[in-house]
Amino acid sequence: MNNKRIVVLIVLATFFLTGCANIGVTPVKRIEPFETQDFLMGTVISQRVYGDNAQKAAQDVLDKLKEIERSMTIITPGGEINKLNSEAGKNWVKLSSETLYVLEKARKFSELSGGAFDATIGPLVKAWGVFTENPRVPSKEEIERLLRLVDYKDININKTDSSARLEKPGQIVDLGGIAKGHAGDEAIKIYKKYGIKSAYANLGGNVVVLGSKPDGNPWRVGIQNPRAENGVYIGIVPVTDKAVVTSGDYERFFEEDDKKYHHILNPKTGYPADSGLISTTIIADASIDADALSTATFVLGLEKGKELVENLEGVEAIFITDNKEIYVTQGLKNNFIFVDESKEFKYVEKR
Ligand code: AMP
Ligand code: MG
Repeated sequence: MNNKRIVVLIVLATFFLTGCANIGVTPVKRIEPFETQDFLMGTVISQRVYGDNAQKAAQDVLDKLKEIERSMTIITPGGEINKLNSEAGKNWVKLSSETLYVLEKARKFSELSGGAFDATIGPLVKAWGVFTENPRVPSKEEIERLLRLVDYKDININKTDSSARLEKPGQIVDLGGIAKGHAGDEAIKIYKKYGIKSAYANLGGNVVVLGSKPDGNPWRVGIQNPRAENGVYIGIVPVTDKAVVTSGDYERFFEEDDKKYHHILNPKTGYPADSGLISTTIIADASIDADALSTATFVLGLEKGKELVENLEGVEAIFITDNKEIYVTQGLKNNFIFVDESKEFKYVEKR
C-alpha cells in the first residue's frame, strides 16, 4: 500500500489579535487549524483539527489508520482478516478485540440489510479485481460458483475467547465496506483523548466531525455531485458530532466494451449493484454504522433503502438516482441544503 504522504500543510495554532487591542476593545482570538492530507487505506485522508494538540492528534490518527488497514485489509498480505480467510473451513482464528468488534458489526449489518451488505462478498470482490491493475468481468459460471461462498451466516464468532471461523473453504471476508467507517470513529476517539473540541476528517468520502466549527456554527459537509469532478457538490448538510458517509458508483470503477463496472456488488447476483442509485449518503452518530448502511442502501435501492433507514433511530440518508433525482429521509427535509450548480439534478422534496 502506498503510504506516501502527499501533502502536509502545517499551520500551527496562531493567535490573531486585532489592531484594536490597545484602544480598549477585547482582542478577537482566532485559532487556525492544523490541516493535513495523506494517502492511506487506498484513499486520500484529510484532517482539519483545532486546538493545542492538533498536530499530535492528527499524527496519532494516521498511525491508527495504518494499524487498522494492516489488520483488516485483504488487498495486501498479512493481517488478521487474511488469517481468518486463510483458515476458512478449517480452524478458529484468534482476533484482537478491535477486529472482532468490526467483524461483528459487519455481520450485524449484513443481517439487518437482509444480505444487501454481506461481509463475505470477498471471493467476488477478488474475481472482479476492481482494486487491482487488471480488473475484469468474470464469466457467468465463475460468478455462480463464487456466489455459493457468499453468506454472512457462515461467519462464526466466539466472543468468550475472541475468535472467529468461516464455515466453508474458500470463503473470504472483506471489510472494505465498513473498515473506513470504523477508522472514522477511532479518529474521533483520538481527538477527544487530546482534549480537542473541534475537528473534521474525511477518509475518502467517509466524513466525521467532532463538535461544531470553532465559531460555534455546525460543520457544513458537502455532498459530492456523483457526475462531476471531486469536490463539486450537489448539496450541503450542516452537522455537529456526526458521521456523513457516501457510497457511489463513481468512487471506483473500470470500463470494458463501453460498459462501466463499479465496486459495490449485489451479493444476490454477483454483479455491480444496479438498483437505480448512483450515490447514497448516510448521516449517523457512529461512522461504522453509516459506512455499512451506505453500502447496504446503495445495493437495496431507493425504496427499500429508505425504508431501512427510516426504521433506524438517529439515522438519515440522501439518495441520488440514475435519473438525477435526489431524495432525503424525513429527518433531513429541513436540514439538507440543495445547491446544484450543474443544474442537472432535481431535488424531490415531497416523498
Ligand atoms: P463502500 O465504498 O463503503 O460502499 O464499500 C465498498 C467496498 O465494500 C467495496 O470496495 C468492497 O470491498 C466491499 N463491498 C462491495 N460490495 C459489498 C457488499 N454488497 N457488501 C459488503 N461489502 C461490499
Ligand atoms: Mg460503506
